[in-house]
Amino acid sequence: MAIVRTYRLILSKLYLSAWARALALIVAAPLLWISAAGAAYVWNSREHDREAVRAFADDLNPPTPAQRYLIVAPHPDDEVLGCGGLMHYASRVGAGVRVLYMTNGDAFRFAAERETRRLRVDPMDYIRLGVMRRREAETALSTLGLPPKSFRMLGFPDGGLEALFHTNWSEARRYRSPTTALDAVPVAYEGATGAPYCGAALLRLLEDEIRSYAPTDILCPHPSDDHRDHSATGAFVEMALASLSIRGGLPPNGCRLRHYIVHRGSWPQPQGPHLADRMAPPSELIGLHTGWRGLSISKDATETKAAAIRAFRSQMAIMSRFLLSFARRNEVFGTPYPYPPASVSTGAVVQQPVRDNLVRRFRPQADIKSVRVEQLQGGTLVAVQTERPAGRFTELLLNIRWLDRSGGAAEGDSLAATITGDRVEADRALDVRQVGDQMHITIPSQSLRAAGFVVVEAETRMAGVMVDRTGPVAVWFGG
Ligand SMILES: [Zn+2]
Repeated sequence: MAIVRTYRLILSKLYLSAWARALALIVAAPLLWISAAGAAYVWNSREHDREAVRAFADDLNPPTPAQRYLIVAPHPDDEVLGCGGLMHYASRVGAGVRVLYMTNGDAFRFAAERETRRLRVDPMDYIRLGVMRRREAETALSTLGLPPKSFRMLGFPDGGLEALFHTNWSEARRYRSPTTALDAVPVAYEGATGAPYCGAALLRLLEDEIRSYAPTDILCPHPSDDHRDHSATGAFVEMALASLSIRGGLPPNGCRLRHYIVHRGSWPQPQGPHLADRMAPPSELIGLHTGWRGLSISKDATETKAAAIRAFRSQMAIMSRFLLSFARRNEVFGTPYPYPPASVSTGAVVQQPVRDNLVRRFRPQADIKSVRVEQLQGGTLVAVQTERPAGRFTELLLNIRWLDRSGGAAEGDSLAATITGDRVEADRALDVRQVGDQMHITIPSQSLRAAGFVVVEAETRMAGVMVDRTGPVAVWFGG
């Protein structure tokens, strides 16, 4: 109420009529309240982040010569931001490192505009940007001490990986990039030349890489990474591992899966080059379905990592503050647990962070708390729990893709549904009901009949605006 009193005092000093003063108070009071609540929230979460850094332990062992790391990156620069220190250590002890880039990063409009110094860029400019980012990655990896042949850039479409996973699965439904206008990998990318832009082709390439490189450790983005290319990369990796595991094609030395994270709200704080500071995982993701551990990075190695980040010249020109925030005295990695993912026959529950940004705080009806997948008589239940009952204004988008029991993934092995109150738009018959704070979606067993492994993703919207999304939730089916 102090705010309102101050405001009244300011108004009393202005020569306004009583009506004008009352009107001004009515208009401005809610705005003041929202900005005060926003400022308090930001201050609070920064304090929370600092506390998380103090409590976080760097107890991960550095690489040993016997390890072989496969680092899967959605775009050139993600590998260095998330794992640059680890890659540098691995190269020094003679451990194996292979970087697999899903895309050349050829959809970044600001970068294309800046490089061409034009406001209207065409498909060729985006392709040239893709070629340029490949060269930047070469420089970055050699800065970290890796040999020139330690990477492969597949050349799939930047900005399109989620569509490939859910919608453009088969060659008959190729994806066409809105920036490069390509629907297959071009020769210029020296990647998987000619491979069609579709999910099935990308999954096959990933499986081949895992089988032929036989890594001991795979690092890929965390499912709760905000960037859709990042979370989709994680989904492709999980699916490739599941497919190989079902078909007995997993390398004998294990393939431990670890996650790194790049985009999550305004994390990591404070932004900018703080080379002497440490970081912790985003605080809202601690204590959920990931076991986080830190790898301590020496002062010299942090400086080498910063130099490798600077090699991404086209990105540094636009967001150097954000990029250099990752040059710290540690790196954070998460192990998904349970791993391998839980089986639906026992009921798999994956907890999600709640009230972790302002929009979700004000829209608890769309703030996803957990996703549960359970096998019932005659069907599979997907229960999406929200902070408050979803009500009729929350739109729930559900995407499911699965592998059949022989490890194959065909065109029809997916399901998409949009549920708003009691209105259901789905490509299969579904039974939907609201049970307290949960949306229960039951998929009849004939629809998922042959499934061996499923990836469920839920997203909520209000008035067409995204409020929350879970990222890929991986579950073994009917084990
Ligand atoms: Zn990225």
